[in-house]
Amino acid sequence: MVRRFSYLFREGASTVAIGGAGAGWDAGTGAHSSECVPEVPSTLCYTACLLPMSRTQRKALITGITGQDGSYLAEFLLQKNYRVYGLIRRSSTINFERISHLQDQIELIPGDLLDPSSLISALRKTEPDEVYNLAAQSFVPTSWSQPVLTGEFTALGVTRLLEAIRVVNPRIRFYQASSSEMFGMVEESPQNESTRFYPRSPYGVAKLYGHWITVNARESYDLFACSGILFNHESPRRGVEFVTRRVSHGVARIKLGLQEKLKIGNLDAERDWGFAGDYVEAMWRMLQQENPDDFVVATGETHTVRRLLEVAFGHVGLDYRKFIESDPALFRPAEVHHLRGDYSKARQTLGWKPTVSFEKLVEMMVDSDLSLLERSRSSVAVFGAG
Ligand code: NDP
Ligand code: GDP
Repeated sequence: MVRRFSYLFREGASTVAIGGAGAGWDAGTGAHSSECVPEVPSTLCYTACLLPMSRTQRKALITGITGQDGSYLAEFLLQKNYRVYGLIRRSSTINFERISHLQDQIELIPGDLLDPSSLISALRKTEPDEVYNLAAQSFVPTSWSQPVLTGEFTALGVTRLLEAIRVVNPRIRFYQASSSEMFGMVEESPQNESTRFYPRSPYGVAKLYGHWITVNARESYDLFACSGILFNHESPRRGVEFVTRRVSHGVARIKLGLQEKLKIGNLDAERDWGFAGDYVEAMWRMLQQENPDDFVVATGETHTVRRLLEVAFGHVGLDYRKFIESDPALFRPAEVHHLRGDYSKARQTLGWKPTVSFEKLVEMMVDSDLSLLERSRSSVAVFGAG
């Protein structure tokens, strides 16, 4: 049964024309017309040419739509006039906070990466042109406490979905959410598509399996399958267990007098942090290419956790050194010390580049947590008064 989010669905308007009549990408064959709009790079003409030729609205199925990236990608695809479906697993409580603002525009389909028949049935019901596999057990520390489950979701889940695509429609374009965690103990810096992998956690190992099975599906069955090797990307919608959000939330609580100290782990770890809203566009661009390929998506800059604290506390006029407490429980059995991505291939081929600086990203997250807490404080006050 197709589950409708809020029991409404926005019927798609027809696509907008910017090319000449008859020009464009053929939704049936995937071939590009010679009359593609000249100012649009050929690699992007699939998009530009969605146009007069494609009379039907394009459809995308997103796994992991309730997550950070799923919510941004859904917004992005809706703006591109896609019909957007999201695969959601059964849960006893509703966890749609990140997509509640899209409730009348998307359609939710029950299914789970652990269950092959649910994936086949989701593909049959939605008949997508594109599938974005964002679902995963995505938190590194949990992968040590639940390594088998992590392997089931994050590694074998990819095979289940690819097999379902082969059964239902091998012409579906597939995006796999791979991770810079696959580089792990890095052997060179910055890391690019040719850098050797050396994962350092069960999560990294599982993601590496997902990456290679995607490459293998492309090489064995000629599937249009792309692996995006995305470096850490954050936003106000990031889970509170990840370090950037843990810090932005902690800073906001301390600033508002709700908390005195912030417990923190390894201050020397370095990450290449970008904005999630930018990164979902790179996912989409990968699927608009003429040929499937793998791409590193990053900012090219790296910062320590210490610098993250400095910027976040500094933004509200506080000195982080007075407010942090080292917590040994937050250190990892094996650490990824340094990540910095080289996104030249994505820049050159996809025409993609990041738009939000590290400082702006951190400030955006702190500001968002401050308003979130202030809003919840005033609603508690109103509720209390009533
Ligand atoms: P989140 O943790 O925010 O979201 C994960 C999503 O996966 C949730 O919607 C979750 O659903 C869903 N999910 C988990 N297990 C299953 C399952 N068995 N069946 C169906 N759905 C499931 O992750 P992000 O949005 O941050 O990341 C998206 C993807 O990109 C992930 O695969 C992540 O590993 C990868 N990635 C992320 C990076 C980042 O910095 N954010 C960097 C590189 C890769 P529910 O709400 O029910 O829990
Ligand atoms: P990851 O790169 O996917 O593991 O993203 P995280 O945000 O979970 O962690 C990024 C880095 O921050 C890792 O090197 C962690 O060891 C380090 N770190 C330091 N303190 C913390 C903390 O309190 N929470 C988390 N999650 N990470 C921390």
